[in-house]
Amino acid sequence: MSIKKSHVIKALREVIFPDAGKNIIDLEMVKNIKIASETITFDVLLPTANNPNKDSLKNACIKAIHEKIDKNISVEVNITSQEQSKQGKQDKQTEQGEQESSMESVKNIIAIASGKGGVGKSTVATNLAVAMANKGYNVGLLDADMFGPSIPKMFNAEGAQPVAENENGKDKIVPVEKYGVKMLSIGFFVKAGDATIWRGPMASNALKQLMNDGKWGELDYLFVDLPPGTSDIHLTLVQTVAVTGAIIVSTPQPMALADAVKGISMFDHERIQVPIVGLIENMAWFTPEELPENKYYIFGKEGVKNLAQERNVPFLGQIPIVQSIREDGDNGIPSGANFDTIVGKSFSDVADNTIKQIEKRNQNQAPTEKVNT
Ligand code: ADP
Repeated sequence: MSIKKSHVIKALREVIFPDAGKNIIDLEMVKNIKIASETITFDVLLPTANNPNKDSLKNACIKAIHEKIDKNISVEVNITSQEQSKQGKQDKQTEQGEQESSMESVKNIIAIASGKGGVGKSTVATNLAVAMANKGYNVGLLDADMFGPSIPKMFNAEGAQPVAENENGKDKIVPVEKYGVKMLSIGFFVKAGDATIWRGPMASNALKQLMNDGKWGELDYLFVDLPPGTSDIHLTLVQTVAVTGAIIVSTPQPMALADAVKGISMFDHERIQVPIVGLIENMAWFTPEELPENKYYIFGKEGVKNLAQERNVPFLGQIPIVQSIREDGDNGIPSGANFDTIVGKSFSDVADNTIKQIEKRNQNQAPTEKVNT
């Protein structure tokens, strides 16, 4: 059996911290779970350094892993305290020049990915972000499609020039705000086409800058629109920030589904371990806007829905092909801003399911760790 983080979390739910009478996972005491071939390592964070339960807790963790996962696996439990961890964090921040402060007030970072280009990933990212903002959440959208940024166009903000503002002695880029969504894109800084000839490291550095130097402020959700497929940019993202979860967008067409599976596998990989928040089926059927009950399944029926079931990941909903979605995209008026249309309603439903699944993910799974390979 290949051991996953979720197995470790399940086993450690059996371990009760006597001071609080609850398990150590729900108390968010377990950090930095790492799984190598023969060893499981993790930290257990106690409220104080000289807690009397130190040794018994360590033994209970080892026992739970041996009983629930594998009696022969080696388990390394590093018992630490909140006081020590706070100090370590401060030291690290000083070393890194407070690099991560921009993202500290972002509650959920959600990657939006697709296996194939042209399946409507950026259209869905834009409209999902707008629909969430329309529901009253604080939302950001980071265009990480460094080689083909399309977010500025989708918001009719191509000419916008983000300004810099000084924050604690450091210049920060203020995101452009439209339809209640704060957004940043490399498209605001380079001429169309220029970024397409960048080498990988240049694109990765530019992405890091948009994340670390963006003045994102308090956000409930920051959506990150990734390039299609799997790339260095995906790795840069998971190495730079702790990504709460990933959403995969696909059409129901078998060829697109095969690539969507690769996307799922990438986030699922034992060295990445970003939970899949869910799949979205775009272009689920064609419908003439004036005859919404007429549905033509031109890319096949419910392929993404079935894939979600097969892979046991949540299904977030379906968006039909409607001419106005394409037109609104070209005109920079996101359809998700108006819930009274059938298109706006489908983005609103997907937004509701997304919120639910992110909440579920946060309740049932430990916070994601940044990837450090
Ligand atoms: P990706 O980001 O996956 O490359 P885009 O979001 O740029 O794809 O979409 C590709 C094209 O398809 C765009 O012209 C967009 O307006 C159009 N499009 C996307 N989703 C829909 C839809 N549900 N109905 C109609 N047109 C759509």
